[in-house]
Amino acid sequence: MSDQEIQTLREINSELAEALKAVLRRDERNTCMHEDTHRGGVLWEICDQCGQKWADDEGGRPEWEDPKEWGQARAALTRHERYQSVNNNPLVQHAVDLVDALESETPEVIEMLRQTDAASRLVNALQDRRPARS
Ligand SMILES: [Zn+2]
Repeated sequence: MSDQEIQTLREINSELAEALKAVLRRDERNTCMHEDTHRGGVLWEICDQCGQKWADDEGGRPEWEDPKEWGQARAALTRHERYQSVNNNPLVQHAVDLVDALESETPEVIEMLRQTDAASRLVNALQDRRPARS
């Protein structure tokens, strides 16, 4: 796999993670967990928020369980975050800072490094990892 393909996959991964996070947040917000209820007569327990009701003689209100899709989404996001933090390890950060320093002090050094293929790929890889500056 080429560096370009890896970079593209990284970008797609980040986009997927952001989209999944947004969908999860929206789904959590729009799902009533029936946290507050009131009694309706002798038989019913009724949700204050959504109005869903449960009859005592049919087992009453079941214990809340998060949908299994939330668990899958959270597990995938946790794995993604861990990968990202490994990717952002201090050694890599140090190297990125080094390239920053070289670039700001002596742009011609960077140009010289770009003349050799391996060094050029290293510089590109480091610059791609660098967080966006505002
Ligand atoms: Zn409810």
